[in-house]
Amino acid sequence: MQLEPTNLSEMPNLPPANAIARAKMAMLNFFTEKPIASKLKSPIVSFSFDDFPKSAATIGAKIMQDAGISATYYLTGSNCQKNFENIAQFDAEDIERLHDAGHEIACHSYAHPRLRGRTQSEIEADLSQNLVFAQKLLGPDFQFQSFAYPYGEFDAFSRKIMGKKFQTARGVYRGVNKTVMDFANLKTVPLENRRYSKQYLDKYIEEAIRTNGWIIFFTHDVAEDCSDYGSTTAILLEAIEAVKVADIEILNVNEAASKIMAACQL
Ligand SMILES: [Zn+2]
Repeated sequence: MQLEPTNLSEMPNLPPANAIARAKMAMLNFFTEKPIASKLKSPIVSFSFDDFPKSAATIGAKIMQDAGISATYYLTGSNCQKNFENIAQFDAEDIERLHDAGHEIACHSYAHPRLRGRTQSEIEADLSQNLVFAQKLLGPDFQFQSFAYPYGEFDAFSRKIMGKKFQTARGVYRGVNKTVMDFANLKTVPLENRRYSKQYLDKYIEEAIRTNGWIIFFTHDVAEDCSDYGSTTAILLEAIEAVKVADIEILNVNEAASKIMAACQL
């Protein structure tokens, strides 16, 4: 199915967060918006892809499926058939194929705006545009369950909205989700080429085991010559191997969040 992406011109992007905006976001980490006291008795790992590049939907999906993993793909509808940050992005067929293969299609906004200082109507217009885009491909009953903040940027207002609209919202603050998790600002462990090492990986896996925590890995493109923000196939394979050797359960973000919520009811 061919879809013509449209631009949300009424929501032009902002410059990257300056030091003050970054400090404000860091402060928000001390105030949990949607606290969930985890009663997990064993750790969980999720794999996710943001934006997302064509290679994540092809090379990345093959690696996931060969390992029997359902991953989470955070979809930015306006990226369809486009280049984003000089990387070729998904097309409509990728969305249908990934969904049919049992991966989670999640929301990463339509226009990939920085969510600082936005009004409720701006945010809702963008979210509904992304949902309309996904429903054209996946049917009128399709709903997103999970969200990831574009560029990891938010303010108290947008975090509150995302906490209400989605089961979870994920930022880019690094760490293992444990004890009291903020379902409106989940932490993540990037599998990015620019910072990856086996020691880095092992540190987070050991922490997840020790705390019965939840690691959400995220990356972008998957290629031998991947971007700084992407993964080589070797990185992904090494991460999967380490998780399997540690016998940690692998669930997509929606499944993991649902399991954590269900454990809270026990
Ligand atoms: Zn993004």
